[in-house]
Amino acid sequence: MTERLYENDSYTVSFDAEAKSVQNGDGVCFVTLDRTFFFPEEGGQSCDRGTINGYPVTDVQIRGGEIIHTVAGQLSEGAKVHGEVDWEYRFRNMQMHSGEHVFSGLVFRYFGYSNVGFHLSENSATMDYNGKLSADDVSMLEEQANRIITEGHAIRAWVPSKEELAGLTYRSKKEIDGDVRLVEIEGVDLCACCVPHVRSTSEIGFLKIVSLENYKGGVRLSYRCGLRALEHYRECLALLGTTGRLLSAKQEDIPATLTKVLEDGRQLSFRLLEAERKLVSGQIRSRFGVDARDAKPLFFLTADPGILRFAMDEAETYFTGICVVMAAQGEGRFRYLMEGDESVAALQKELKGRFGAKGGGASGSVSGSVSASGEALREFFAEHGIQ
Ligand SMILES: [Zn+2]
Repeated sequence: MTERLYENDSYTVSFDAEAKSVQNGDGVCFVTLDRTFFFPEEGGQSCDRGTINGYPVTDVQIRGGEIIHTVAGQLSEGAKVHGEVDWEYRFRNMQMHSGEHVFSGLVFRYFGYSNVGFHLSENSATMDYNGKLSADDVSMLEEQANRIITEGHAIRAWVPSKEELAGLTYRSKKEIDGDVRLVEIEGVDLCACCVPHVRSTSEIGFLKIVSLENYKGGVRLSYRCGLRALEHYRECLALLGTTGRLLSAKQEDIPATLTKVLEDGRQLSFRLLEAERKLVSGQIRSRFGVDARDAKPLFFLTADPGILRFAMDEAETYFTGICVVMAAQGEGRFRYLMEGDESVAALQKELKGRFGAKGGGASGSVSGSVSASGEALREFFAEHGIQ
């Protein structure tokens, strides 16, 4: 069994070991060591990164009680190897994980809720609790957590004897068989945990809740600590900077400027729709002004597809036969609406057969979309006397 050095020492990241077993794969090998500082994926947290003999370690998993390092290179069994854990990545995870303990300890103390889910990887950092928290609750907890962080409480991890454990009250996500590793934040929290932590809450630096959402009867909080919080803060400021430049507005004027832009956009859309309606009305009226009453009309519109219904209603005030209205929806793609008598269903079926059109409808009224050139569609309908 591999000696899990990271359990007693979170800070050493450079070590020598022996490759106990090596299994070669496609461009990689799967290695177990006699001892390792590589934290494997466990407890909802992604594994450490780094190198073994200079080759990247791309994954570290526990399988059958063994820690398997996936190494992008070739190693041989029994070889002396040198491991280097990526300290920057590890330290960020330590800040994040210790921060989670501070926050979850507070949630339990103030509200009695348990941390029932935890995910920490490069792309996500979430904590789930089995009870509801309001935005105000979260603000209060966040402030308390940051006070504890600045107070510099010592953090230690150890495996107590069965007798000692029996006398302790601690938080735990699940029942644990065998040895229980406890992580204590002095005067703040005691929790069963297998993950590397910082030595003092002051090393967490800062904790910020990023989002709060209802989740499985409780809540899910997304959060950042320490250097990841700093990165997130920079990203937020960059986003505000870009938004401000796009709007030609100072940061504090962004909400008012954006509200005005949105309102202007709504007004323009409304005016455009009105103009399109007038245009379509005019087109339809002029067509019926010259065509015989028994013509089967077909209209191609360049207007917003949302105006199809309006165009059909306009057409139907003049006409009672089969009517086809099509609106361009990008290059070579049309929305269509066909109304009149029962025969439009057969017409739609043919349109589907010829052009792979999509759509459905009820008796006498069908609609959908079709990808074809306007010319090909005109020919198709002309064959059916619709033009
Ligand atoms: Zn933990």
